Amino acid sequence: MDCREFSSHMKDFIFDKLDDETSTCFVDHAKNCRACYDELEVVYSMHRSLGDIMGPNGKDDTSDYISELNEIFDYYYNLRNNNKKKVYLKISVIVIFCIIIVLSMLCFLFECYL
Ligand SMILES: [Zn+2]
Repeated sequence: MDCREFSSHMKDFIFDKLDDETSTCFVDHAKNCRACYDELEVVYSMHRSLGDIMGPNGKDDTSDYISELNEIFDYYYNLRNNNKKKVYLKISVIVIFCIIIVLSMLCFLFECYL
């Protein structure tokens, strides 16, 4: 995601209207681009202080909007890590399954030729 795309998604991110994948890319960009992060911080704080949106998990009792933004970032960071773990688990199951099949075939071949 580039800075232009980031800006175009900002309002949808703040109003939680992006899908998880786009939100994860959005957060990645914000973590690596100080100018975009600063802009997001200002726009998020503005909408929160105006009462346009609730804080994460429906919280509305704080004025520490920067911590809230970091909470939202952590959510997407954890989401991405959990998705990676699921992919690794699926790959592990497939590899183990293939090993079992190959070993079974080898056993079968040895029994046939011995
Ligand atoms: Zn940027």
